[in-house]
Amino acid sequence: MAKPAFFDYPTFRETRLPKVRLAHWKPVTLYTKYRWLVQALVVISFMLAPELRWLKLDLTNGQYWLLGYQVSLTVALQAVVILWLGTYFVNFFENYLIGRLLCGWICPWGLLNRLGMIINHFLRRHKQRALILAAANLLFAITATLVVMNWMIDLGTLFRPEHPYFGWVWGAFGLLALIGFVILHQMGFKFCESICPFGMYLTVVTQKNSLRITFDSNRACVDCGLCTQVCPMDLSPREMDFKDSMNGGFGQCILCGDCIDVCQVRMELENLPPPLRWNTAEGIIPLLPLEAKQGAK
Ligand code: SF4
Ligand code: SF4
Repeated sequence: MAKPAFFDYPTFRETRLPKVRLAHWKPVTLYTKYRWLVQALVVISFMLAPELRWLKLDLTNGQYWLLGYQVSLTVALQAVVILWLGTYFVNFFENYLIGRLLCGWICPWGLLNRLGMIINHFLRRHKQRALILAAANLLFAITATLVVMNWMIDLGTLFRPEHPYFGWVWGAFGLLALIGFVILHQMGFKFCESICPFGMYLTVVTQKNSLRITFDSNRACVDCGLCTQVCPMDLSPREMDFKDSMNGGFGQCILCGDCIDVCQVRMELENLPPPLRWNTAEGIIPLLPLEAKQGAK
């Protein structure tokens, strides 16, 4: 497929539609509505699992639970290993067949990054924006740390100075919350782009025949640049199909659908169909690599 000429001279016009930048929180298509729902359910399950003793290793008191029953450390550790391996294999096949859904749909850290972006957007004219954003990110980091620690310790230990692990638990809490805050506040989605080891792995193994964003060059594009502006992974969604996966293509795409949402909103103003689409959309051969499509013509 020939690369459209305008990609060599990107001239993104200013838009007078700041509301469309809210693509980060306001779902437009059914796809992004389901993404919000799934991510919320994952976060709720992650919080409830140790609370309901589905799986919890209380290392501070030497008590372990599985499916509501108290079990030995060995059984609990076996359950952890099975859970990790199961998660790994489910993700491996999901990633092979569909794409990097784990980052866009599942990862609670991505949700916190997204909430930070939404707060940043809403407060864009607020004088205390930097301070409020820092406070919000600190709150997110503390909450995430407590949720993760709840899988491994009794959080009540934090309030029992007589407990032998009191100092250790506070030390771990402080360190994890600080690391979380620095990552959230200083890096945001940059962490997912370039540091998260799981993200790097997914970038490498993501296949070209996965679900991906495609630019339909038979449709008009008003060259507004909004798709690029909203992309949390700093990609250029229009170009992805023309790049290889290792250098800014679908390997980095977390399949959030924000670019498609914003393109749809923008093109509705022109009464034209959006040029950005999923490769599974009607009129595009589903899940077929570009080379195969070209060969078939
Ligand atoms: S290219 Fe689109 S779907 Fe992919 S990460 Fe960027 S905004 Fe999300
Ligand atoms: S693809 Fe859509 S959102 Fe992106 S520049 Fe063109 S019209 Fe704007």
